[in-house]
Amino acid sequence: DLKSEFLMDTIVTVTVVSDSEKKADDAIKRTFEEIKDLEGLFNFFSPESEISEINRKAAVAPVKLSVDTFHLLEKALDVSAKTDGAFDITVGVVVNLYDFHNKTRPSDSLTKEKLPLVNYRNVILNKKDQTVFLKKKGMVVDPGGIAKGFAADRAIEILKSEGIGAALVAVAGDIRGYGLKPDGKPWKVGIRDPRGESIDDIIATIDLRDMAISTSGDYERFFIENGRRIHHLIDPGTGYPARGIMSVTVVAPLTVYTDSLATALFVSGTEKGLKIAERLGYDTLMIDEQGKIHMTDSLREKIEFTKGNI
Ligand code: ADP
Ligand code: MG
Repeated sequence: DLKSEFLMDTIVTVTVVSDSEKKADDAIKRTFEEIKDLEGLFNFFSPESEISEINRKAAVAPVKLSVDTFHLLEKALDVSAKTDGAFDITVGVVVNLYDFHNKTRPSDSLTKEKLPLVNYRNVILNKKDQTVFLKKKGMVVDPGGIAKGFAADRAIEILKSEGIGAALVAVAGDIRGYGLKPDGKPWKVGIRDPRGESIDDIIATIDLRDMAISTSGDYERFFIENGRRIHHLIDPGTGYPARGIMSVTVVAPLTVYTDSLATALFVSGTEKGLKIAERLGYDTLMIDEQGKIHMTDSLREKIEFTKGNI
């Protein structure tokens, strides 16, 4: 049984294996409801969301959070610490200056002016009070690099609690599966050719055995300006789109980590990124700007390349 809905600004697909259609339908329904609830909390574009409230109260007052938003921010700060700040949820103030639809980007002076507002260390979580405080006026928290992964993990928890024995959840490119397909084989996920024509143009497949996988690429949201690709993965150190890589894929037990780490390692680059991946013990594949493949040793036996030229 497979169903898709447009949620969290993207396509969410839930596939479940169950011998009872009713059980499958009920489980999927509850999963979508839960993701809708999370979207209500995390939606960057809705003034009603908790994230918007946090941003409005920057440098004004701490904001009392729901358990879910507090956890999301805790995970985000944890990933920032593990990646030397390559993942930074406060990059929103710079991301806001880009308009990929109208192909506009900020001037260098505006980027420079806003950059001091990007620093995850100025996000103060208070566990006892369950509050968050943004220290500087104008800071903007943008959960776009971690919220989809968080939601995919929640979806899997719901499906398990509903007694579903095997499932695959995909929130755009953030995918997590458990159990086996009806044919007894593990879920198989394709890795896109970052310069391919369509979403079906893949360079490799990976078997997903009770694991999560995410890919971040410079082809998701971008425009070309004077031959340069202006994309949505921002280096918090410079305030500009990160250079040197076309896509990063991370495999790990939880989507909340694969989602945020794929973004972070894209920013870190091949050398530093692979070091971080090895240290965390997460399988990682990186395609650099020349199209060259870099990967952790542990991935080699789990990946199958489908294009002969690599
Ligand atoms: P996608 O949303 O295309 O799947 P990602 O999961 O990599 O891609 O998330 C990219 C989004 O994360 C951007 O649109 C932006 O909102 C946010 N972002 C960009 N750069 C960073 C960064 N260095 N750290 C944290 N979040 C980022
Ligand atoms: Mg991501």
